[in-house]
Amino acid sequence: MVRPLGLLIAIAAVATPVLRAQSPVDSGLMSYIAAIKAIDNHAHPLLPVVPGGAPDTDYDALPLGAIPAFPLPAGLRGDNPANIAAWHALYGYPFDDTSAAHIKTLLELKAGVARDRGDRAAEWALDQMGTDVMLANRVAMGRGLGPPRFRWVAFVDALLLPLNTAREAAATPDTRPLYPREERLLRRYLTALSQSSLPPTLDGYVSSIVTPTLERMKRDGAVAVKFEAAYLRPLDFGNPPAAAAAAVYARYVHGGLPAHAEYRLLQDYLFRTIAREAGRLGLPVHIHCMYLAGGFYRVSGSRPMQLEDVFNDPALRHTTFVLLHGGWPFVGETLAMIGKPNVYADFSLMTGVLSPHTLAGVLREWLEEYPEKVLYGSDAFADHNDDPVGWADEGWVSARTGRRALANALTAMMRDGDITRERAQEIARMVLRTNAGSLYGIGTP
Ligand SMILES: [Zn+2]
Repeated sequence: MVRPLGLLIAIAAVATPVLRAQSPVDSGLMSYIAAIKAIDNHAHPLLPVVPGGAPDTDYDALPLGAIPAFPLPAGLRGDNPANIAAWHALYGYPFDDTSAAHIKTLLELKAGVARDRGDRAAEWALDQMGTDVMLANRVAMGRGLGPPRFRWVAFVDALLLPLNTAREAAATPDTRPLYPREERLLRRYLTALSQSSLPPTLDGYVSSIVTPTLERMKRDGAVAVKFEAAYLRPLDFGNPPAAAAAAVYARYVHGGLPAHAEYRLLQDYLFRTIAREAGRLGLPVHIHCMYLAGGFYRVSGSRPMQLEDVFNDPALRHTTFVLLHGGWPFVGETLAMIGKPNVYADFSLMTGVLSPHTLAGVLREWLEEYPEKVLYGSDAFADHNDDPVGWADEGWVSARTGRRALANALTAMMRDGDITRERAQEIARMVLRTNAGSLYGIGTP
């Protein structure tokens, strides 16, 4: 449709003074929100730097740096001006640009902070972003990332893949480097149980590897487990009979390449088994759910509605699921899914990709219906500690974007007379802190 130019000018002449008259954010509400100590539902903090130490490779099971380069949205690029604001605030970066010479200065400033703060550098970073507790989604925790400020979310995709993954890996250039990482991680999980080989039957695999691994994670401090399965396959996990899954397992556990359909069937069975066991142990199940994760990533396979059969499985009603990254951009599907009793969503990574204005629109839709199901998250990450945009910088930017978006959405609801100021403040506390606090039994209200 082409609008007549004269009409556009007339609209602009009327609309501009109105837009200037009122800020989209109530300043009192913004101050209130700025003071809430957040629980960050999802992030990948790195271990503090040790001079001469080995690089931290446990910050993600499937790091995006491992796959061929793909286009990143503008908010995640190194030249995003929001990063400069984080550098000013965190390190006293004296410049307003990202020239090579100035980035060198930035890295020196960061090295100074790392040296001065030592093992407390990560907790200091949380203080700067107003975060009380960060859920750290890592292969393993370590020095400087301990409770109560950091809580572990462990990876469980490797448990889906006890058989040879060569055929699955061959599917795309993205999956080729990812599956071998899962194979190595499963070996690491076996070692943690002092096991060196897989049991001959599926029942044995579940009872002596799957369940003990989940129990070990909980014992080691995990408050949730996480699937990155959408990087590897569609999320439409079926519900096959145990006997069919057991037959596939027994046929290939000692060698041979399962057909794709056979392996899918076994994965489907194991996904539901892991989800059921996680529920029994009181560990919510996090699921990467967003359009973004590589140039060959199956966007259609990662839509929130792909998981509806899993969420509707009566055997899994004691398991709580959290859709990470809000299913962006399929946020209407996310809304439909958080209407189920055991499903939550966070808006991690959306805080890095979207403007406060765009994110506010999404939050308003969700908060009008299920304010008790929405969780703040950052997805703060970095490929290494020498990255000019570190996890702390990402976290700082995400915290600012998330709080502004929340203030924007709640201001609009308040001004429309949908909620009172008191209710706006209550919802802000729920989203930034108490929803997560109740879900994981951490922090105080
Ligand atoms: Zn993440």
